[in-house]
Parts: sequence; C-alpha cells; structure tokens
Amino acid sequence: MKHIGIIGAGQLGQMLALAGTPLGYTFTFIDPSHQPCAAGLGHHIQAEYDDEAALEQLGIECDLVTFEFENVPALAIEYLKSFTTVHPNVQALETAQDRLNEKTFFRNHDIPVGEFAAVSSWEELQAAVANLGLPAVLKTRRFGYDGKGQRVLKTPDDIQIAWKELGGTPLILEAFIPFTREVSIIAVRSIHGEMAFYPLTENVHRDGILHRSIARPGDWMQAQAESHARKVMEALDYAGVMGFEFFQVEDRLLANEIAPRVHNSGHWTQNGAVTSQFENHLRAIDGLPLGNTNTLCHAGMLNFIGKLPDREQVLRIPGTHWHDYHKEPRSGRKVGHVNITAPTAPLLEERLAHVEALIEPA
Ligand code: AMP
Repeated sequence: MKHIGIIGAGQLGQMLALAGTPLGYTFTFIDPSHQPCAAGLGHHIQAEYDDEAALEQLGIECDLVTFEFENVPALAIEYLKSFTTVHPNVQALETAQDRLNEKTFFRNHDIPVGEFAAVSSWEELQAAVANLGLPAVLKTRRFGYDGKGQRVLKTPDDIQIAWKELGGTPLILEAFIPFTREVSIIAVRSIHGEMAFYPLTENVHRDGILHRSIARPGDWMQAQAESHARKVMEALDYAGVMGFEFFQVEDRLLANEIAPRVHNSGHWTQNGAVTSQFENHLRAIDGLPLGNTNTLCHAGMLNFIGKLPDREQVLRIPGTHWHDYHKEPRSGRKVGHVNITAPTAPLLEERLAHVEALIEPA
C-alpha cells in the first residue's frame, strides 16, 4: 500500500483522496489552513509550503508526492526531491506558474497562441498597447487564478487605471481574443509515457471564473487539442493529469494556459467518464495502467460559486451528482459543484438549465 503526499488540501486534494482510497492509497496533506477541506481524508500537516521541516516530514512519510495547485514554490519541490518522488516535475510547474514562460513555451513548440508582450514598466505597457492594440488583457505573470490579477483594457483610460491596480509586479499584456468558444482538454501521461485524452470540454466563464463545462465527445477540434497536449506533455516529460485551456477562433485553437494538475473543467469525469481524472492522475504518477477516458453518457458540470444552492431541489433533478467541498461560503469562492448526466444531449441541456435556475433564482 502506498502513501501519497498532496501539497494543498483544498477541493482538488479532497477529490484526489476520494478517488485514491479505493485504489488502496492513503494520504498526507500539507496546507497552512487550519481546517482545509481535504484534512479529514488523511493526515494533515499544518504548515507553510516552504517550511523545510514540514516538507521533510511529508517526504519521509510519503512514497510519492503530488500537488493540487500550481503556486507551490519550485524550491519546495526541489527540497522534497531529496526525500521522495514528486510528479509532475519542476519544469512543468515552472512553465505553468508564469504566464510569460508558458506563452513563450507554446510559441517555441509551434502551438498557436495569441499575441503577447512582457510588461514591467509604464513605458513597456504603453509600447505593448501600441503594438497589440485595444482591447487587450493585462495580467500578472504569476499567482493569478479565477480571473484575479487581470484587467481588460478597452479604452485608453483603462490603461492607467489597470497600471495603478496591477503595476509593481511583473505583468503580461495579451491581445484580446475574439473567441467563438472556450474549450479545454484533460490529458494524462503516465511515468511510463502512456497517454490518454478525455473528450474535449466546452467551458463558459463568468467574471473570469469557470461557470459551466460540457463534455463534447466527437468534437471536430478534438484532434487539434490532443496534438497540442501531446506536444506539451512530451516536451516536459510530464507525468499526471494536465488541464489545457484554449480559445477557439474559427478553425484554430489558440493556447490559453496549462494547469499541471487535475482541473475544474474535468470534474464531470467523476460521474460521466469510465475513469475520473482524479483516479487517472494517481494511476499516472504511480505508473499503473491508465483507465479508459471515454464518456459513459452526456455529461456536464456547474460550479457553485460563493454558496451552495438548495441540495434537495438540485437532487430532485434526474442525473444530478452533488459535490460539496465543505468550505465556508464566501463571495467568489468555489464551494462545490454538481455533475449532471443524461442519456441525450437535449436532456442534458434541459437539466443544466434547471440547475442553473436554482443557482441563480430570478
Ligand atoms: P485565465 O485566467 O487567463 O484563464 O483567464 C480567465 C478567463 O478570462 C478566460 O477563461 C477567458 O474567458 C478570459 N480571458 C483571459 N484572457 C483572455 C484573452 N486574451 N482574450 C479574451 N478573453 C480572455
């Protein structure tokens, strides 16, 4: 029986442990919060991510360590490596941690990406805007998530306002992509190089936060997404699940970002795929054969942001599967999600609409 360490004990850690327990794994989490949501599913070491004594304890306790978020200090992973094995690797982590590194990596590997420029001064911002034009999106290079640390620049006045808010940290300016769809692919590669891909997922964001995902098996963009994901995973000698987000513009996918971990747009796999992304992540990093990534039915997911809706009302809708992260309600916070399954695409849409009406009562 193997003991797995997870850096971070949020909802992704919770869902990894829930998927890994039947496989025979036990878990230790490191997380600075007092009572993070995964804590009850294993041993919780309450410590900062750069606490060497805590990392040493984690490394000694665990046969294998992984992480559930990408802002883990790379030095912590390097330190842990003297005690245990860590997947995905530091190279993948460092590529995904910094939007400039990430976009440069895409460009260097012939993966289409929108125009972008590094910005570290007011002069550079003005030059970048002159070059890329408006609208554009100004983002912090690091530590941005769920739309945090980014501003859309539409008018010349917005430039100064955004600079006041974000200036002082390294930034990136991206051309605004007039996409027709946002899609993502959940891909997985094992330590032996075996790869598998879930069907493309269509995503809708609200205020920069994922709102809903729908699996689109057989989508005409599947091969393109798989080819880009394969390239990234091979170049990084990647092990584990990776989420890869794209903007679709006409018949092309432009890379937005990669997440070196299980991904919110893959939560539907818990109830709609033969093997969930959480199980496949653990199988991949432990060198087990990967599980089948096909869909079992039509499937989608809606995030609960800020607070949970009424559970009974949601569960009255057929095909709904409730996932509660055991978190305190807070504005903008992901507190749970519902996976929705259905035998046909129209029925799935209908059920999604029913749940959406419960999330946001008129
Ligand atoms: P990100 O954190 O970079 O994934 O951004 C969150 C969301 O903001 C994306 O999923 C898009 O909906 C939107 N967004 C981010 N960057 C751009 C862009 N360059 N052009 C258009 N929309 C964007």
